Amino acid sequence: MKIACFSTKSYDRESFDRFLSETDHSFSYFDAKLDKHTVSLAEGHDAICTFVNDHIDSGIIAKLHQFGIKLIALRCAGYNQVDLKSAAEHGIKIARVPAYSPEAVAEHAFALILTLARKTHKAYNRVRENNFSLEGLTGVNIHGKTVGVIGTGAIGRAFCRIAKGFGCTILAYDVFENDEMKQLGVKYLPMNEVLSKSHIISLHCPLTPETHHLINSESIAHMQNGIALINTSRGALIETKSVIRALKNKKIGYLGIDVYEQEENIFFKNLSEEIMQDEQISRLMTFPNVLVTGHQAFLTKEALEQISRTTLGNITAFEQGDTLVNEIKPS
Ligand code: NAD
Repeated sequence: MKIACFSTKSYDRESFDRFLSETDHSFSYFDAKLDKHTVSLAEGHDAICTFVNDHIDSGIIAKLHQFGIKLIALRCAGYNQVDLKSAAEHGIKIARVPAYSPEAVAEHAFALILTLARKTHKAYNRVRENNFSLEGLTGVNIHGKTVGVIGTGAIGRAFCRIAKGFGCTILAYDVFENDEMKQLGVKYLPMNEVLSKSHIISLHCPLTPETHHLINSESIAHMQNGIALINTSRGALIETKSVIRALKNKKIGYLGIDVYEQEENIFFKNLSEEIMQDEQISRLMTFPNVLVTGHQAFLTKEALEQISRTTLGNITAFEQGDTLVNEIKPS
């Protein structure tokens, strides 16, 4: 099949090229994000391959249908960015990569926690200027802390296993409780109790209409003073303006985010020569206790390999008329 691959970075190309020779597919790589201006690049292809910030609304789907696109191969797990109903109405199938490396994301969440707890981001800069003073570098132990996990799917479960190794008490909220986690010692509680009893809260649920702005001024009011809030899931789980207010009044003691509500026009780009127009991310970056990474939690060699293999597997299954095990259908 001929596949138009949008939002391609060098690491995507390298990873797909390693495995393409094992298939009969050909990829056209486009740096451009998929939108109404770039959708015409899909013409002449059988399928498209997209990532988290390629918004596929009904207008784009109508165009893709017009170009004869039959499959959208998402090279990510989340699918909140796709109008599934419209795709189904146009007979376009959607497949995703459900789990490429839950550990990659869970380990990144812990990297954010450890960096904020031990201020290694500050130490790194300090020693490079031959400043070996320890003033202001007092940290906190993770051992013995209570960690609240919202969403115990593949990533949440990997996160719980790491937290267990650190000697944390683990509380969780999920619409479905998981037996393996209960055996690990995870205690499921209503969401507000998880928020009120935890020192660290890590978000691992998907973005849905129910979870949009899950963290807002009301839910923050339930949290302990000085809470560490970590989000490696989707930016809009957090209402950014409420979090900024809570950082200013010290209700939130640490914030580690790999995703941001308005990341679409900022992340995955080098904007170092531009004037930042987004007031909220600029404000967030002024806090010494805030750590922002640009949606890189997934970015490990192991995860990229899994993404390429599963995406190519999805495309081949579609082409051969096999069961599309990773298909997403409208609920
Ligand atoms: P998953 O589907 O395995 O697990 C999601 C869990 O959330 C499920 O257990 C589900 O029951 C639970 N859930 C659903 N609605 C909920 C609600 N209202 N409240 C509490 N829990 C709820 O997904 P996953 O693989 O663990 O991924 C989780 C999320 O991580 C994805 O949706 C995606 O947005 C994000 N993600 C981010 C990156 C990154 O690079 N930062 C990479 C991959 C995934």
